[in-house]
Amino acid sequence: MTMYAPLRLKKDEQRRLLAGHLWIYSNEIDVKATPLTQFAPGQIVQVQTNTGKPLGIGYINPKTLLCARLLTRDHNESIDGQFFVNRIKQALLLRNNLFTKPYYRLIYGESDGLPGVIIDRYDDILVVQITTYGMEQLLQEVIDALHVVIKPSAILLRNDSAIRQLEGLPSYINPIVGKIPEIITLEENDILFQTSLQQGQKTGWFYDHRCNRAELKKYVANKRVLDVFSYLGGFGIHAAVYGAKEVVCIDSSATAIETIKRNAQLNHVENKIHTVQGDAFEQLANLIKKNGQDALFDVIILDPPAFIKKRKDLKEGLFAYQRLNELALRLLVKSGVLITASCSLHLSLDMLFDVVRRASIKTQRDVKILHQGFQGPDHPIHPAIAETAYLKALCCYVE
Ligand code: SAH
Repeated sequence: MTMYAPLRLKKDEQRRLLAGHLWIYSNEIDVKATPLTQFAPGQIVQVQTNTGKPLGIGYINPKTLLCARLLTRDHNESIDGQFFVNRIKQALLLRNNLFTKPYYRLIYGESDGLPGVIIDRYDDILVVQITTYGMEQLLQEVIDALHVVIKPSAILLRNDSAIRQLEGLPSYINPIVGKIPEIITLEENDILFQTSLQQGQKTGWFYDHRCNRAELKKYVANKRVLDVFSYLGGFGIHAAVYGAKEVVCIDSSATAIETIKRNAQLNHVENKIHTVQGDAFEQLANLIKKNGQDALFDVIILDPPAFIKKRKDLKEGLFAYQRLNELALRLLVKSGVLITASCSLHLSLDMLFDVVRRASIKTQRDVKILHQGFQGPDHPIHPAIAETAYLKALCCYVE
């Protein structure tokens, strides 16, 4: 058993941890008993109540507001190679039960008991993203455990997420094991997609919408579909494969648009897919100006980037969601379907309902919500950590 330096909480500050959460804020620490200055960034600590009762083992970054996270509640456990092997094995078991093909998020941070680690799996290639100082110190243990449990042919570190700045960590992309092919092919819902793991957005693909994309099957046969913020065609190609008559994909990224064309060919739907490179708001407004029947769509998907990255962006972000949803409702036929998504943590499900409600009033369209979608099961939600639930998608029938 390894002895770790104690980190004392103030009186009663253990409540969140006892309720199941894993986070500790700097103002909850008894700095008289355990001054923050005595800890090195990333150091492993034994978290204790104000009377010295152990609550578990975690890591600390004394420079951040969210300054420590629990790795285990068993204060006798050592944070060593075996710890990581066990956690990764547990996560793999869940994914093996959920999926038949090796394309999924393998580790989703706190929900998989590894705060600060994200790992997406593309067959035998793994893309790892570390988001905390504590985990950056443990990176070699994580990699060693991946070799034991998964035996990957290659590992890419995509440590270019903006949240690393909060922890004082540098931004870099580094292929640390094997050779990363320039383009890889993944499979989702039996549909093929190509992406670049090094240059693509986030880890190359957004696995989180898997179930919401599958949901499209019910609505698109013989329909005209508009996929707004399409990235590599996640929703649009699903729609085309599921029998849509025609699909228009809009995205501002030229690389994304090029890849959509390749993904369309890969699935033999290139005749149905049209791409438009440009700003979504402008393109939607242009379509409305056209004002013809051929500018209308039977199904519209809105999957924008997070408009509310920080709480202070709430007002401005809400306004953007509002405008976007109004534009889409103006472009839908009667009895059309709108799938409207948000990946902003700070936009709650209730707020998204409200965005849709307001847009329906503003555009004088009647809306019925048919289905509520969330992130897929390889992004499991931790019941005590609201922050692990970020993705929502409302499927709306519009009259
Ligand atoms: N729907 C996609 C994921 C969307 S990610 C999927 O299923 O995988 C958000 C996308 O919005 C990115 O591809 C980004 O290039 C694009 N984007 C960001 N701002 C934009 C804008 N103003 N207009 C159009 N596209 C935009």
